[in-house]
Amino acid sequence: MTPMLPLNDGRQIPQLGFGLWQVPAASTAETTATALKLGYRLVDGAAIYGNEVGLGEGVRASGLPREDIFVTTKVWNSEQGFDSAIRAAEASLERLGLAHVDLLLIHWPCPARGLYLDTWRALIRLREEGRALSIGVSNFQEAHLERIIGETGVTPAVNQVEINPRLQQPALRAFHDRHGIVTQSWTPLGQGQSFGAAPVQAAARRTGKSPAQVILRWHLQIGAAVIPRSTREAGLRENLDLFDFALTEAEMAAMATLDEGRRCGPDPAQFDMA
Ligand code: NAD
Repeated sequence: MTPMLPLNDGRQIPQLGFGLWQVPAASTAETTATALKLGYRLVDGAAIYGNEVGLGEGVRASGLPREDIFVTTKVWNSEQGFDSAIRAAEASLERLGLAHVDLLLIHWPCPARGLYLDTWRALIRLREEGRALSIGVSNFQEAHLERIIGETGVTPAVNQVEINPRLQQPALRAFHDRHGIVTQSWTPLGQGQSFGAAPVQAAARRTGKSPAQVILRWHLQIGAAVIPRSTREAGLRENLDLFDFALTEAEMAAMATLDEGRRCGPDPAQFDMA
């Protein structure tokens, strides 16, 4: 059973889920249904992933009650702005075949466009209308968060950002903690770049777990929600098998030394792909 984290809007989010970036549209329904049958309860999608139709099909094929599954999608950069974000969310719901998503995120701030505040107002409206039960952002930095909170008085429930052992973002996570924002880690495995690192290897040897499991367990223990991706059933199973061991304080301290502040993905201050 996946632990739940409280959200600042009174709802809850499963701490562990699976991501659908780069999962082929043709196999997304099967991957989603398989993951849900294995025990995952959160699916991380996005309009730009091109597989929302399969996501919705997988949710229905799982046979689980809709209310037991937490579905996330995201408004893409080219759809920023009040009216276009509303239309984009409606199009996502149409593709998903769902009446609402559990979490709707602004995918990137794209500060040069100057539209993320209007987009945030659209998400507030969509939540009022019940089309998104919770709303949040992704790839927002402190200045972007401060602006939308200051202008609207509505704090995002979640900020989904790149976090892995080489990019631990302690200052941003502390900001999230002060504001009651759940940190959700994307590219949590960091492209495998820390699998061979001594602290990961030592914890893997002691616990009999894989390097990936050690790293995912580290995310849980820093209090983050996490959404690893695997399309293989064995990989999905492995990434779900995190609840029968724990890293010690010394192991967590050793993991903290791996932070180099180096990103796998783009810099949110600059990224503006349409
Ligand atoms: P990830 O860290 O989940 O790594 C995926 C890669 O690791 C794949 O190549 C997979 O085959 C491999 N892998 C998975 N489990 C493994 C295991 N147990 N052992 C060894 N290798 C394993 O990376 P990701 O897909 O980039 O990120 C996860 C999810 O985060 C995405 O699917 C997407 O939903 C989300 N995401 C969001 C953003 C954003 O801007 N909001 C950006 C990137 C990703």
